Amino acid sequence: MKIAIIGVGSVGSAVATAVKNTGLVHEIVLFDRDSIRARAAAEDLGHAATFGFDVKINAVANYRGIRGSDIVIIAAGANQKPGETRTDLLQNNAEVVRDIVPRVMANVDPKRVILILVTNPLDVMVMLAQKLSNLPPARVIGTGTMLDTARLRTILARGLGVSPQSIHSYVIGEHGDSSVIDWSSITVGGLGLDDFCHQVKVPLTTTVRETIEYRVRNAAYEIIRGRGATWDGIGAAVADLMKCVINDEHRILTVSTVSGTGHNIVAMSLPRVVGADGVITTLNPKMSATESSALRRSARIIQKNFAKI
Ligand code: NAD
Repeated sequence: MKIAIIGVGSVGSAVATAVKNTGLVHEIVLFDRDSIRARAAAEDLGHAATFGFDVKINAVANYRGIRGSDIVIIAAGANQKPGETRTDLLQNNAEVVRDIVPRVMANVDPKRVILILVTNPLDVMVMLAQKLSNLPPARVIGTGTMLDTARLRTILARGLGVSPQSIHSYVIGEHGDSSVIDWSSITVGGLGLDDFCHQVKVPLTTTVRETIEYRVRNAAYEIIRGRGATWDGIGAAVADLMKCVINDEHRILTVSTVSGTGHNIVAMSLPRVVGADGVITTLNPKMSATESSALRRSARIIQKNFAKI
């Protein structure tokens, strides 16, 4: 299994480390327009590989070097500076994706390649990459709200005193400020959230819910304030998505992919079954009227931003 990573900054490097540590790939190639940075990352990661799985890691000087890749991960482009939103990156990163996708497509097998998008604003970049690549939407996948969902599960787990593994919960919609926490579909150990909280005597008041929503939506801003960028969480999320594809696991992940018809075409995150062919099925989770309306608003924001590029 050969994987290519385009853009080897903080995120691309963390992705390479996490992917390498799965033991599922035999070769990782790194491309960055800053070739010195890519070579240095390949060198460092190559040294790390001697302590773990035997993975060949090489920097490539041009896109011919990605030939034979089964999965291409796009992690290039500007990141948020403190105080910036993901949408502030729109025009700059649209140019980056316009530069990258045609070159990638000229060097991969369009019948089998899967593109994984990480660049923000994520959902708009998925729509753009799908259009430019002409690949079936199921094979152009953004990490979407996988990270937001992980953040929600972590916060809930700490508050409820159970492992995140025992919590099924989804953040859906935009990977951005309009993301929606789908409280209605949360289950803990098979029980609805309210039932679970009642049984363990942990009150989940409106104020507690609002605080959780705030912390989930602002997690990236807090991390960027503290360490300049986010990378470990997204590195692990990409490796988990890649593992789900390589092993054809059919797990349900909140990834972003283009779906809908006519005026409703949009890429946003919903719980989706993911396997070797990419997204297999999209689920419509249980939602309250308020959550459905927030999801529609989130979709409109993504569509409006797509129209601007
Ligand atoms: P960074 O500045 O550390 O690295 C970006 C790299 O992209 C640089 O090495 C740069 O040379 C390279 N690059 C830029 N344009 C390129 C091009 N046209 N071709 C090839 N390489 C190019 O940034 P980062 O912190 O690694 O973030 C990368 C992207 O990931 C940002 O858009 C960031 O917002 C996004 N991100 C997404 C998530 C998510 O959940 N989806 C999480 C964290 C970061």
